[in-house]
Amino acid sequence: MALEDFAAQADRCSQCSYCKWIPFDQVKSWRFAKNCPSIAYHNFNSYSARGRYAVTRSLLHGDSAYTDTVRDIAYTCLTCGACDVSCKVCRYNLDPLEMVRELKFRLVEDGQCLDEHLAVIRSLRSDQNTMQQPSSARGAWAEGLDVPLLPADKAEVLFHAGCRFSFDRSLHKTVRAAVTLLRGAGVDIGIMGDWEMCCAGRVYAMGYRDEFERMARANIAAWTRAGVKTVVTSCADGYHAFKRLYPELGSQIEVLHTVEYIARLIEQGRLAFRSEVPMTVTYHDPCHLGRQGEPYVPWDGVEKKIKGQIITYEPPKPRYNGAWGIYDPPREILRSIPGVELVEMERIREYSWCCGAGGGVREAYPEYSSWVASERIEEAKATGAEAMVSACPWCERNFMDAIDAKGETMQVYDIVDLVQRAIAGEA
Ligand code: SF4
Ligand code: SF4
Repeated sequence: MALEDFAAQADRCSQCSYCKWIPFDQVKSWRFAKNCPSIAYHNFNSYSARGRYAVTRSLLHGDSAYTDTVRDIAYTCLTCGACDVSCKVCRYNLDPLEMVRELKFRLVEDGQCLDEHLAVIRSLRSDQNTMQQPSSARGAWAEGLDVPLLPADKAEVLFHAGCRFSFDRSLHKTVRAAVTLLRGAGVDIGIMGDWEMCCAGRVYAMGYRDEFERMARANIAAWTRAGVKTVVTSCADGYHAFKRLYPELGSQIEVLHTVEYIARLIEQGRLAFRSEVPMTVTYHDPCHLGRQGEPYVPWDGVEKKIKGQIITYEPPKPRYNGAWGIYDPPREILRSIPGVELVEMERIREYSWCCGAGGGVREAYPEYSSWVASERIEEAKATGAEAMVSACPWCERNFMDAIDAKGETMQVYDIVDLVQRAIAGEA
């Protein structure tokens, strides 16, 4: 699509501001009723989905030119998708998340980039990762694991560690545990080590569509050459890219997040917990595993108007409103671990508040990114939980950094860390 394809949507946006709040029937308190971190932080309408429709309309009509403010408005969007869920409560014919993505694509195409993002792009081009690290260090997380190394070795299931897990040493234990416990349950699993490449989901969210497509096609070709049938990842960004975006480029490989695989193994009786993990935890739904983790449904149809005003789609258009994301497997896992008590935050599932790490915001606006994480930590503290559990290294890193910066005592875990404790018999 092109930005021009969103011109009609920009006209249709009723400026109702519903996109700034979780749906009203979901509100439990005023404190945690907002859903859009961008408008909550900047407190100015242009920084909401509603405002970004207005900016898009203005650019398309030639009423605005590119300015630092226009760039700021576009790039401070986390592309978390919370606005999209709320807008779609009442409307079928607006896609604010897709609109803002298209706005970023256009800015990049027109050379309106941010220096902080260009550093990431240079790293992607030279070393196939977003972390500005040498590609030769990518597989170090798996040292000594004795796991099949594709493509030289063969395995039906490929474990994709992703950039954050591969280069963030303090998170290595999580991916090592994930591979170890899947192998221990008899899964024919391998890794690509230094040959693994970025999923490119993060650069897609920054607006670099061409870079995303180049990397996605390279990944699909590598998996096909290696004979991989299933890709498993513990990264929500990677999951979204592989599950939701790659099929648009022809990928037919099965994609699972680790939590889906583990939930399946528990149900089949192939993972047994040996000890209690006495802990009260709350679960943070990553945007890219939850509301954006819905399966891709191809649509090739036309938009029609009935009686001059009612918009319909023929055939009916798939409606991505977050309801079919991955919400139950992580909660089923946590409830099945002896000793773990799960207490929920006010904004959960498709109504979750973002961690603040997405859309290129962590890279370009660290202070704002940290504030978004702090807001979620406040919500977690209000539950009485002693730990936040999630299923994405980007969320976990952003929470850990915000906790350190504020001297908080809240613990942060990946769900795999707790599964590993219960299996290995560590209390
Ligand atoms: S984007 Fe949707 S929810 Fe937001 S103001 Fe426009 S119509 Fe209302
Ligand atoms: S995607 Fe997230 S940050 Fe961007 S406008 Fe929507 S709710 Fe706000």
